Amino acid sequence: MLYFVKDNMIHRFPTPKRCGCIHKNEPLRDTIPHDVEECVYCMRSWPGDDC
Ligand SMILES: [Zn+2]
Repeated sequence: MLYFVKDNMIHRFPTPKRCGCIHKNEPLRDTIPHDVEECVYCMRSWPGDDC
């Protein structure tokens, strides 16, 4: 799984629909830095998750 950091928050890539964040040219990474906040829409599992 890949992630990217935007505005000091980590998101999953590809971004699930419930997260309004759009990946542009932020670098993709496969590790999660610990000095950022987690986007709950991307980083938590949700019921009915189809992504
Ligand atoms: Zn997100």
